[in-house]
Amino acid sequence: MTGGDGLLRDAVAARERPLVEGLSRWVGIPSVSTDPERAGDVAASAAFLRDYALACGMTRAEVWETSGHPAVFAERLVDPRLPTVLVYGHHDVQPVDPEAEWDLAPFVPLERDGQLLGRGTADDKGHILMHLEAVRGILDARGQLPINLKLIAEGEEEDGSEHFEELVRAHRADLAADVAVVSDTGMLAEDLPALTVGLRGLAYWELGVQTAETDLHSGVYGGAVMNPLAVLSEMLAGLHDRHGRVTVRGFYDAVRELSAEERRQLGAVPFDEAGFLAPVGAAAGGEEGFSTMERRTIRPTLEICGIWGGYQGLGAKTVIPARAWAKLSSRLVPDQTAPQVTEAVGTHLRSVAPPGVRVDFRLIHDGPFVLTPTDHPAVRLAAEAVAAVWGREPVYIREGGSIPPVATLAGELGLPCVLFGVGLPEDRIHAPNERVVLAQLFRGMQAVAGMWDLYAAAGVEGLSPRPD
Ligand SMILES: [Zn+2]
Repeated sequence: MTGGDGLLRDAVAARERPLVEGLSRWVGIPSVSTDPERAGDVAASAAFLRDYALACGMTRAEVWETSGHPAVFAERLVDPRLPTVLVYGHHDVQPVDPEAEWDLAPFVPLERDGQLLGRGTADDKGHILMHLEAVRGILDARGQLPINLKLIAEGEEEDGSEHFEELVRAHRADLAADVAVVSDTGMLAEDLPALTVGLRGLAYWELGVQTAETDLHSGVYGGAVMNPLAVLSEMLAGLHDRHGRVTVRGFYDAVRELSAEERRQLGAVPFDEAGFLAPVGAAAGGEEGFSTMERRTIRPTLEICGIWGGYQGLGAKTVIPARAWAKLSSRLVPDQTAPQVTEAVGTHLRSVAPPGVRVDFRLIHDGPFVLTPTDHPAVRLAAEAVAAVWGREPVYIREGGSIPPVATLAGELGLPCVLFGVGLPEDRIHAPNERVVLAQLFRGMQAVAGMWDLYAAAGVEGLSPRPD
């Protein structure tokens, strides 16, 4: 057994350089899903991944078109009696702005000090290739996988996964599995492995206020009419009180408060608050009475993501604009739902708008929260595989972010979701100078190779939770 493990370890380790080279090429394809001008690049990214999956030993790989950007499906089926794992990732990336803040061209990856810098290195292309290169390594060592493996990589995760549910429904049979392993998350530190068991949900809105039919001359009308930018600013400023609490009536109604014991467990997870904030130069903020860890995982948020309106060109233009806009978002925790929070926030905004002001508040996209039981066999075996590579037991964490497709996999396919990712808080995903620590990807390859062996040993039955 030990000798065999060594052979596997070496064969997987031999895929480290190919992983870095493959990732560098893939990051060179700017698959920004929110930018319509990049649609061709997202398609090229899908084609790249399809070919890469085949080269790594997947026996079937296809680009699946959607009404939006294409997804990629790949599989290697070994034996129907073995457990089937569906790996989820996404091949689209976030926009790069503000581009001036990058030390490098975002799509010309740079390897430096054991890291690979570039948009998509950590989120999420590195994770997908971690899985595929592990497949290659296992096949090199043994000629076959110990389980049936499927991969679904969507092309719209950074744009709200609008067509993912539709895609999953259309390909239910192809995607059938015993467990989903989602690799789009992170750990707290390099020496502190973690498995994510909870994700916050998301609701994202656009808010428009209108105070006149047309822009007005600030000399002729100034002083006699309302200003939509001032109205909007006041509405937004009033969303939180001075204790950092959201003022919207009903906003916290569905929030499942953690017991003292659950808060104690969360507090026991080592978390370097200064180390979390300092690398990004962020000023601490948030709701009084909760730790930074709690604020970003078990508490809901209401954030202003953007605000605009009026004249923004060169020089002066003496105008009172007719309209102003903002983008707002909420991170949702159990048991909040997007419709419930949308109703509460919309009612609040309309009620605080002065008479005569038209308010347009609409939901742009949303996704539910996810919570996976830590005693599920698929989670426990994943923890065992991670512990074998990192040399210590992983901690169970909740992630502040939202991955709506995880809720789709859990809901539509009824799959237990194991969230195993190797990203780090300093990876600057969604921000300038995104990077991935290569040693994390390399350990991740070893961990998934070990995970598949443990899943195979457990068998289909053993991967199902025991009835109480
Ligand atoms: Zn991601």
